[in-house]
Amino acid sequence: MIDLNELVRENVKKLIPYSCARDEFKGKSGIFMDANENPYGNLNRYPDPYQKELKTAISKLKGIEEDKIFLGNGSDEIIDLCFRVFCNPGIDKVLTFTPTYGMYHVSASINDIEVVKIPLTDSFQIDLEKAVTLFSDKNLKLIFICSPNNPTANSMNYSEVEYIISKFNGIVVVDEAYIDFSEKASFIKLVNTYPNLILMQTFSKALGLAAIRVGMAFTNPSIVQYFNKLKPPYNISAINQKAALLKLPQIEQNKSIVFRIKKERDRLSANLLKMKIVEKVYPSDANFLLVKVKNADYIYNELVSRNIIIRNRSNMIDNCVRITIGKKSENDRLIDALKSISI
Ligand SMILES: *Cc1c(COP(=O)(O)O)cnc(C)c1O
Repeated sequence: MIDLNELVRENVKKLIPYSCARDEFKGKSGIFMDANENPYGNLNRYPDPYQKELKTAISKLKGIEEDKIFLGNGSDEIIDLCFRVFCNPGIDKVLTFTPTYGMYHVSASINDIEVVKIPLTDSFQIDLEKAVTLFSDKNLKLIFICSPNNPTANSMNYSEVEYIISKFNGIVVVDEAYIDFSEKASFIKLVNTYPNLILMQTFSKALGLAAIRVGMAFTNPSIVQYFNKLKPPYNISAINQKAALLKLPQIEQNKSIVFRIKKERDRLSANLLKMKIVEKVYPSDANFLLVKVKNADYIYNELVSRNIIIRNRSNMIDNCVRITIGKKSENDRLIDALKSISI
C-alpha cells in the first residue's frame, strides 16, 4: 500500500500555508472589513479561494465527491503543482512517454526535475516492459500519461495504464484534456481505487473555455489538501469561476457541438486521405488530426502564406503535422488550400 506522505517533499509537509481573510472567516453575510477590499463596486471582493459553488456543480456532473476535486489556473497550474508537491529539485525524476504534451517537460525543467523519456511504440502505445524497469528507481516520483495523447491523437490501452497505476509506488498523472472527443472510457473511476492517481481534465477544449483558464484534477482528498497548501490563495478569478459555472447547465448543448466537431474530424480525415500530398491520417480520439505528409515544412509554410495556421510536428514525428478541427467553413478552406499545393 502506498504511503502518500512518504512521497511528499519534506518542506511541503512542514509548510504553514498563507491564511487569507476568507480562510479565517467563512460566513457569507456580514460587514466585511477583514481583507482590505474597496467597499464599492461589483468586482471589489476577493473570490472564493476553494471555488465551492463550482466544485459542487462539477461534483454532480462527474459523480465524484467535492473533496476529491482541485481546480487550477488551467491544467498547467496543476502540472506545476504536481512537481512542487512531490519532486525535490535537482534530485527527483519524472517519466513521460514521448512524443507527448510539451508542458510536462517545461514544467519539470522549471522545477529542476530530470525527465526520463520512453518513446511510444510504433502504434503510439506505452512500452510497458521498459516502463516497469524504472519503477524501482527511488527518485522516480511522477509518471505523466496523456490519453488521448497530444499530438498522436490516440488513447492509451486501458489495462496497461491501470497496470502502471497499480504497480508504480509513486504518483501517476493521467491527462484527459481530450476525453470528451473520445469513445473510449475515461480513467476517472480509478480515482476511487488508487490513491496515487491524479486525473486531469480541463475547460479548455471540449467545453470551449480556453480563455478562462480552469483545469480540473480528480484525486484523493489528501493530495487535494497538498495542492491547496501550495497554490496562490485566489488562483481562479471570480469572473472565471462564474464563466465555468454558467457553462455546466449547458452541457447538453455542448455535446452537440462536440458531436459536430467529431463529424467534421471524420469528414476532414476522409478528404485528406484522397490527397497525393497526404501519406497517412492517424486515427483520432481528439479534436485534432495527426497527419503524415510528403513534406511537412513545405506544406506548413505554404498554408501560412494562405493564412491557415496548423502545427508542424515534424521535429517530433517525421513529416507530421497536427491539424485542429475547425468549423465546417474553415475545414473547407483548409481542404481547398491543400488541394492547391503541389509538391
Ligand atoms: C490543451 C491541453 C491541456 C489544457 O491545458 P489548460 O492549461 O487546462 O488549458 C492539457 N493537457 C493537454 C495534453 C493539452 O493538449
